[in-house]
Amino acid sequence: MSTDNNYENMQTVFWTEYLRILKGLKEPVDKERWHMAPYETNAYYSITDNEIVFLAGLLQSPLYSKTFPDSYNYGALGSMVGHEITHGFDEEGRLFDQDGAFRDWWDKEDMKKFKAHSECFVEQYSNFRDTRVNKNVSGINTLDENIADNGGLEASYYAYKKLTREKGAGPKLPGLGFTHDQLFFLGFAQVHCEKSTKQSLLIDILFDEHSPDRFRAAPLMPQQTSTLEACSWVPILQAGGLGKVRVNCFPKAIATWHGRESNPRLPDLESDALTAPPRCPLYV
Ligand SMILES: [Zn+2]
Repeated sequence: MSTDNNYENMQTVFWTEYLRILKGLKEPVDKERWHMAPYETNAYYSITDNEIVFLAGLLQSPLYSKTFPDSYNYGALGSMVGHEITHGFDEEGRLFDQDGAFRDWWDKEDMKKFKAHSECFVEQYSNFRDTRVNKNVSGINTLDENIADNGGLEASYYAYKKLTREKGAGPKLPGLGFTHDQLFFLGFAQVHCEKSTKQSLLIDILFDEHSPDRFRAAPLMPQQTSTLEACSWVPILQAGGLGKVRVNCFPKAIATWHGRESNPRLPDLESDALTAPPRCPLYV
């Protein structure tokens, strides 16, 4: 390693890691080993270990704080927890059993429903076009992540509602006027706020198994319209994510919450609303 050649340092890091992985092919599986470093702002589900891991780098503001309302924490971190759990039941996860062994353990009826819902997601996401690079999302390449996003958000919302039934919603945040359902979705949108160059976005849309963040945040909302008490919030997120307005307005609202900025520009329901994309029900 040297202090003046980042490229060579990165090559050394990649080669060392590559050789370590190759060496591991001849060794017994170490199920205790983490696949990411604790300081990363990330989380994962491992199909072969059947485990989910949330790294220390993730468990902090703005994704989580014990001082935040439950609604926000469930929308932000809770939906990520749900996302990772749902990976155990996506196109890949469904093929591995509780011990991480490769085994198709679903019955035919479940499989049929799963396929029908999957096809709906493929069609829905393939229709999303990112106008910044004039490319459509690949609904096939991103299917597992889209399933996890939708399942995670819905599971977390139900978990939050169960919590409030048991212990109440708690006081609203002073000065903001948001309901707790709205805060839930603010928290969720905050996770997917992005700022990227066109080049980086193009690489993501061509090769990343995740949809671009604006499509991860926004299209999920219409899935929920039958169950949500926060329906009036739906067009806001939907509009932000479909490129007409902004997902980026949400950090502004959050910034205000943290006291760094006054008079946030909240989306205008009248002018920002768009037609809802097709709805893919998760549970029937
Ligand atoms: Zn994922």
